[in-house]
Amino acid sequence: MNVTQMLEGKTAIVTGGTRGIGFAVVQRFLEAGAKVALFGSRQETVDKALEKIKSENPDANVMGLCPPLGEYVEVEKAIQSVKEAFGRVDILVNNAGISARESLYEYKPEDFDNIMTLNVNAVFNCAKAAAPIMKEQGGGSVINMSSMVSIYGQPAGCGYPASKFAVNGLTKSLARELGKDQIRVNAVAPGVTRTDMVAALPDEMVQRISSTIPLGRVGEPEEVANAVLFLASDLASYITGEILSVDGATQV
Ligand code: NAD
Repeated sequence: MNVTQMLEGKTAIVTGGTRGIGFAVVQRFLEAGAKVALFGSRQETVDKALEKIKSENPDANVMGLCPPLGEYVEVEKAIQSVKEAFGRVDILVNNAGISARESLYEYKPEDFDNIMTLNVNAVFNCAKAAAPIMKEQGGGSVINMSSMVSIYGQPAGCGYPASKFAVNGLTKSLARELGKDQIRVNAVAPGVTRTDMVAALPDEMVQRISSTIPLGRVGEPEEVANAVLFLASDLASYITGEILSVDGATQV
């Protein structure tokens, strides 16, 4: 199958699709023939992402929305409006996420709540709103963005790994629950990936991180997007409940 046909006729929603890994997923999906709705946190960043896509490909089938992902009613409205605009919802990529670095001693309870709201509740909300549409259509594919910290934990910012362990739990459980409706649910667990966060680090630090990774470098957003594309496509038709590491065999 040619890459440009991998998602032909399919409609996808990508949360956190305005930059970083999410934006790379949006671009891969468009190249693969999908219609794509990207969700962002603010109208301004959504518009900027749409502008960039349209400047490179004026015919791209793309739309953008910014529902508050922690509020189920708003999420349901947004996902319904994608269905109305594009006619279907076949793929959901729960990518939006924030990380944390604070020690437990400094960690504010409201920051712990915030990370859970975006990294966990939003995954539940989007899956709950999209699943009935997918079921009615005869199936679909959900891909959740986990992280290597869901395997190793991390020595500070405990809310972040805790949220990604929860993402894996949702992935495994929803795969079992929704299999009968032909909805596949998988996760991708990236290692350190060159998004804005990594680009802001000094070269020396990136080199130090890279030297501990067997492949000798950090990952690129497009490499994570390729794994998401595979799981979203019919090439992965018998794969569900998997957490696919894209981390160059990082061992912490
Ligand atoms: P990023 O900060 O570059 O992008 C995050 C995206 O999430 C943006 O599109 C932003 O609009 C969206 N977002 C942030 N806050 C939001 C909010 N309150 N409501 C709605 N959307 C919001 O991050 P990234 O590095 O591309 O990370 C994307 C995903 O990959 C996250 O789930 C992250 O945990 C995961 N991840 C990243 C790395 C890495 O090294 N970059 C490693 C492992 C996992």
